[in-house]
Formats: sequence, C-alpha cells, structure tokens
Amino acid sequence: ADAAMYAAKRSGGSTHLFYEPGIGEHTDTRQDAESELTAAVQNEEFVVAYQPLIDMRSGRPIGAEALVRWQSPTKGLRMPDQFIPLAEETGLITDIGAIVLRDACMQAARWVRSIDPEDELLVTVNLSARQLQHEGLVEEVRAALTESALDPHRLVLEITETMLMHDRDTAATTLWALKDLGVRIAIDDFGTGYSSLAYLRRFPIDMLKVAREFVDGLGRDANDDAITRAIVDLAGTLGLLTIAEGIETTQQQEHVAALGCDLAQGYLFSRPVDADMVMSLVRGESWEDIPGQETSE
Ligand code: C2E
Ligand code: MG
Ligand code: MG
Ligand code: MG
Repeated sequence: ADAAMYAAKRSGGSTHLFYEPGIGEHTDTRQDAESELTAAVQNEEFVVAYQPLIDMRSGRPIGAEALVRWQSPTKGLRMPDQFIPLAEETGLITDIGAIVLRDACMQAARWVRSIDPEDELLVTVNLSARQLQHEGLVEEVRAALTESALDPHRLVLEITETMLMHDRDTAATTLWALKDLGVRIAIDDFGTGYSSLAYLRRFPIDMLKVAREFVDGLGRDANDDAITRAIVDLAGTLGLLTIAEGIETTQQQEHVAALGCDLAQGYLFSRPVDADMVMSLVRGESWEDIPGQETSE
C-alpha cells in the first residue's frame, strides 16, 4: 500500500477534534499565567494528540508521537509552544510530562491489544530538559509501563541534543537507567542542536529524528538532500532507526523513502489526531476520516 495514496484519499477530510478560538486574550502578568497553568494541572486540562508514524517500507501506520495540548474550558486550545516554556521554567512540566507519559502508555497498550501482538507498534513521548534532570523520571516511566502493561520497547522517549549538553553525568545515568527498563531513546530534531556527535556512542541512543528543517527542502535544496542523506547513512552505520519529520509533500515522501528512512510523519499522512483514530489506523481501517486540519478554520 502506498502512503501517498492514503493521503490523497483523505484530502478534504474535516473532522475537527480540537477547537481553537481567536488568539488575543492575554494574561496580564507572568504571575497570572503561572497560576493559570498551575490550576490547569490541578483541573486536568491537558489532552494528548497523536501524530501517526508511517513505516516507509509498508506504507502502514505503526504508531504515533504523543503531542500535548492544553484544552482550557475558557480559552480553548493552546499549543505546546504557548505553554511548554513557562511549564519548563516553573517546573510544572514535571506534572504535565507525567500526564502525557501515562496517557501515551495506556493508549499504546490499547492499540497493541487491537492488533496482532507480533506486529510492530510504538509510541514516542517528548521529554523536556527539566524532566531529564528530574530524579523521579525513571520511577515514573517504570510506573507508567507497569500500570499500562505496555511492552517497554514500544515506548520511545524523545530528547534533544541540547539536553545532553547540560548536565552530562545526570543525563547519562538517567538514560542508562531508562535503557535498563527496556525503553528506547530518540534524538528529536537531530542536527539542529548544539552538540558533538561523540554523544552518539556515549549515550544509549536508538533512533534519530530528521528535523523538519532538513526535510523541508528535500528535492529542491541540494544541501538539505545531502544533510538528510548523511543523517540516514550515519544512522545506518550505527544501527539506529530514522524518523523523518514534517513530511508535507509526496516529493519529500519519495525522497526520504529513497534515502532509506525507516519511518515518517507529517501533514501529508495525518495531522495529530485523537488516540481512537490512531487505533483505527493501526488496525488497518480507512484513512478517509482523518482530519486534514487539526483546528477548525
Ligand atoms: P516536536 O517534538 O519536534 O514535534 C513536531 C511538531 O511538528 C508538532 O508540533 C507537530 O504537530 C508538528 N508537525 C507535524 N507534522 C508537521 C508537518 O508536516 N508540517 C509542520 N509544519 N508541522 C508538523 P506541536 O504539537 O505544536 O509541538 C511543538 C513542540 O512542542 C514539539 O516539537 C515538542 O518539542 C514540544 N512538545 C509537544 N508535546 C510535548 C510534550 O508532551 N512534552 C514536551 N516536553 N514537549 C512537547
Ligand atoms: Mg518530538
Ligand atoms: Mg522538538
Ligand atoms: Mg521534532
């Protein structure tokens, strides 16, 4: 089956899962914003959207990336860029991150129960710098896995290069402890951070995500082609899997497939959707109801 075909089939889809009101209501002070975010954690206003991950060889969806959204009853949908930085600064990211982790493991365990247990299926969860430095992280991951009964290697934690540069010893200890649990580690936005490639052998890394920044110019920009090829080749040599992010056109899709990228995600295949939609997809149901847009327009 051809992933591009599915994308074509679902064009025009318009099921809206998340509602976004007009942006423009500002909170007066940072303190207001902080107490609002604190209240949101207490009131459980965070929801998790899932963007399907496509296996480039089969063209089939085999999992998803968990992406948090803040669904405020008064102000509507807020995207991560609008609250993750404050959550990081205040430490509330620890609570929000735990919510995402638990939801992702529970949902992935449900998806697995609906497919052949031998089939590949994975869920990826973004970690923030603060979470990686938080000493309770390993126990939280263990608890989320136990509670959901998810096979640990189906959970992939995404970190960034920059996060590995801060406190290397803590990062190394934590990553090896996570590795011992059986979870896998991916480098998000690979090639865009500040780091040396040496960490690829110092830390237990399993996957590289090719940043949208490079995917964007595939087929148009020789530099982006060269960088993407280099990343995929490097990953191949080191035995790492690759995920191409931000695939929006069939041209980009054909390029990443030709370069040997293992997995891909992007608006061409699907926007982030709710967990039930991912379940239908991994079960092989049709792409027809997939929203072309995450928000109403
Ligand atoms: P990311 O982890 O690199 O996630 C990819 C972002 O690109 C997502 O934005 C996704 O919706 C968007 N995207 C996917 N496909 C396409 C495409 O084809 N074109 C374009 N233009 N964009 C695409 P989102 O959900 O707004 O998240 C933004 C960032 O916020 C994420 O970047 C991640 O760094 C952070 N984030 C999201 N969820 C979480 C979370 O649960 N915890 C933490 N710590 N960070 C999160
Ligand atoms: Mg990510
Ligand atoms: Mg990122
Ligand atoms: Mg990314």
